[in-house]
Amino acid sequence: MADSRKYAGERPLEKYPEPRSGAPLAIAAYPNRYSTGMSNLGFHFVYSYLAGSGRFRVERRFLDDRTVPATAGAVFFTVSYEEDLLNLVRMLVSLGIEPLRERRGGGPLVIAGGPVVSSNPLPFFPLADVLAAGEGEGTLPLIVEAAADEGSDRSALAARLSMVDGLILPGYSEQTRTATPVDPELFQNSVIIASDTVFPDMLLVEISRGCPGACSFCMATSVYRPFRTMPFERFESILDSVLGAEGVDTRRVGLVSTAVAAHPDFTEMMRAVDVRGGNVGLSSLRAVDVDGDRAEAIGRAGIRSVSLAPESGSEKMRQRLGKKDPDTAYFDAVRLLRREGVSRITLYMLAGLPGEDGGTFDETEKFLSELAGAAKGARVTVNLNVLVPKPRTPLQFMAMPGQKEIRASVDSMRAACSDAGVGISVKGQRSSMNQARIALGGEGVGRAAVRFTAGRTSWKRALKDEGVDPDLIHLERGIGEILPWEQVFGDGGRDSLLARYRAVLG
Ligand code: SF4
Repeated sequence: MADSRKYAGERPLEKYPEPRSGAPLAIAAYPNRYSTGMSNLGFHFVYSYLAGSGRFRVERRFLDDRTVPATAGAVFFTVSYEEDLLNLVRMLVSLGIEPLRERRGGGPLVIAGGPVVSSNPLPFFPLADVLAAGEGEGTLPLIVEAAADEGSDRSALAARLSMVDGLILPGYSEQTRTATPVDPELFQNSVIIASDTVFPDMLLVEISRGCPGACSFCMATSVYRPFRTMPFERFESILDSVLGAEGVDTRRVGLVSTAVAAHPDFTEMMRAVDVRGGNVGLSSLRAVDVDGDRAEAIGRAGIRSVSLAPESGSEKMRQRLGKKDPDTAYFDAVRLLRREGVSRITLYMLAGLPGEDGGTFDETEKFLSELAGAAKGARVTVNLNVLVPKPRTPLQFMAMPGQKEIRASVDSMRAACSDAGVGISVKGQRSSMNQARIALGGEGVGRAAVRFTAGRTSWKRALKDEGVDPDLIHLERGIGEILPWEQVFGDGGRDSLLARYRAVLG
């Protein structure tokens, strides 16, 4: 049986074959909490594919698991957040696996994929035997077969995998191209309904991948392109196989997408859930996608809380960032949503934007006041994050502001919100520098993670000891040098990224 361990409140949606006799143990590992991992469809896919292959006995493991499984033949990590690099090292240690690849010798295989690996795999080079960059549906089957056939024989594994687009075998092949984008028929849905997650008791369905937008700070269009949408028939067949199935009591369906209402069949999807007696949860909406029909569908579904992501309240700043929606798109969207009964609006915004100044915050205050007026009677809250430059985007060249500038930016946003009568919640202010150091780092960052998690030194000291300057993130760079991830993927259209970066600076 795959994963005989029970986590409280779970309802599995798939049945898996008995593994072949003598099959080794594979661990589907998520280097963060259970509730975060079970909310991640990439992790569901890895677990489901491994268990369905019959080539391994499979167990899941999360950062907050207390028990240690028997010795594994392979560990498959899904890495969604930069700081999970440190958690990955911690989990390897707790599983009794040497974290440094070169010291591991013939021990268990360590395989890692996910958005963070896809944007910059370099920090994982010292840790992993196989890295999967880009969409995993095409590459995971090849890895699973090769790992099951070859066991811990790294050179045999390299002979089979090193020429595959999207796969990197540090020590054997260290350059690749991003994996081929997959057919939207293969987009993911939950394989286990779980209670203790960010979206409790919800069937999650990935209705699109990539994004029709082109924001200069965002990986959605650089790593996951082109924008593709799940066919409506496929969506309906997932609903039919889950809602009302024997032993499945959930009626909640979460539509997962970077731009959920950009799906051409959005309103039909909402109706399809409704006619099956379900109710819908949404990830964030783009303001430009909210028209009368979509707002009405949202209201009819009983949704009272929605999120929009203007990122900045200054229209000029948004234009420079490549987010072309005018202020009026937001005002119109909240007016329509309010008319349909939406009573809570969350606005995702960013601090530490390049070139922001007093005028940016004045414009933001005006924007928020006007938006709050358009949403009269609704509770409006800004969810503020600090901008972290991401590899393979135009802002990869950007000098990240220092702690003092970030603090000033956050304070100005607090003041703008207060003057506009809007609530604010600030996230990640302290961790943003470390996220940037990992996001933009090279191999030394991975080695520093091992040094740091061993517990005898600070993170900054560990970086310095591995030859990494912790302040490098504060310098504009890459104009005349090769960036770490460009060693792996080539320059990724550097001229165009640079032109867009210059447009951001104005
Ligand atoms: S609209 Fe959102 S998901 Fe799309 S590119 Fe912009 S920030 Fe990324």
